[in-house]
Amino acid sequence: MTSQRLNTFLEKNLQELKDKGLYNEIDVLDGPNGAKISIDGHELINMSSNNYLGFANDPRLKEKANEATDIYGVGAGAVRTINGTQAIHKELEQKIAEFKGTEAAVAFQSGFNCNMGAIPAVMNKNDAILSDELNHASIIDGCRLSGAKVIRVKHQDMDDLRAKAKEAVESGQYEKIMYITDGVFSMDGDVANIPGIVEIAEEFDLITYVDDAHGSGVMGKGAGTVKHFGLQDKIDFQMGTLSKAVGVVGGYVAGTQNLIDWLKVRARPFLFSTSLTPAASAACMEAIDIMTNSTEEHDKLWENGRYLKEGLKNLGFDIGNSETPITPCILGEEKLTQTFSKRLTEEGVYAKSIVFPTVPRGTGRVRNMPTAAHTKEMLDEVLAVYEKVGKELNVIK
Ligand code: PMP
Repeated sequence: MTSQRLNTFLEKNLQELKDKGLYNEIDVLDGPNGAKISIDGHELINMSSNNYLGFANDPRLKEKANEATDIYGVGAGAVRTINGTQAIHKELEQKIAEFKGTEAAVAFQSGFNCNMGAIPAVMNKNDAILSDELNHASIIDGCRLSGAKVIRVKHQDMDDLRAKAKEAVESGQYEKIMYITDGVFSMDGDVANIPGIVEIAEEFDLITYVDDAHGSGVMGKGAGTVKHFGLQDKIDFQMGTLSKAVGVVGGYVAGTQNLIDWLKVRARPFLFSTSLTPAASAACMEAIDIMTNSTEEHDKLWENGRYLKEGLKNLGFDIGNSETPITPCILGEEKLTQTFSKRLTEEGVYAKSIVFPTVPRGTGRVRNMPTAAHTKEMLDEVLAVYEKVGKELNVIK
């Protein structure tokens, strides 16, 4: 018999979520996650993936994944520190370091894992972490797990960062102080002010940590937001994922040899969770090779981003202040946002609504993620559907 207390808890809370319209029904794809997807047999133009460069179903990556499976097997067989480190893991880390312009790198099984491991590996209850208020959930959880004092900094507000850094230093309470931020903020598409951050970090000797999940493959000709500003020697942690532009799965930190050596003995997901699969490692390496040798996909991504933004703006939509291909269409009211997204799907365009608590109340949006795999024809179709639904719901004239 299962626990009565557990069942009561689950039933009550699930019902409450459903009553409030907050229960998320998960869509299931019939096949790969590309520029077009199929759900329950319906083909849709996909504007909701993080597959920025179209690599998730790229034949070149698939070939390398298959080859690696033949050579190394389907699983690494152990955690990295026992005997789950295969040659392919070392090669991947070497490649990441070269691509990011750092001495070394360490790979994790996911970006989320990486933040949960890397932050508590260096920060503890004697320390403080200054954290941008819009940082990703994995950063928030990693900070909490570290036991350090977490001080929220207003979004991208360098004056607030300076004031709080000064206060933390002058309090004399903390051994180390870190500033942590997303490199590209995924809900608005704005880019962290890395030069401003470096200036303040140097003034107050802050440890700097940039989570570039949405910047890797997108900014800096693919090498990320930090490299975009040419400041790879000034940022302590360049964290990234292998699951978005790289198209596979995994996470990493790139930094100095000392930092990476430390993470390999202290980051708990590295120590206690089985390594990335050989197939994933090989596919990631192929993606990095492609990005190193050509900017074709990167350039197409940006071209598509510009085209979509201009089209939506010309139709009269509020697309916010994105500096990257991420294109939010801000509609405001939560119910309207959800209805809008549903109507888009009915018309053949899959673009998810994002509402409170993921974004502040009253700033609901349908978020569009154009990729290198989209064609102009697909984007024209998306714009035509937006025009139809926008007029129907009185969002545009
Ligand atoms: N950091 C940020 C900023 C993210 O957007 C995400 C993914 N949603 C992650 C970390 C987690 O990465 P992953 O999906 O590879 O676990």
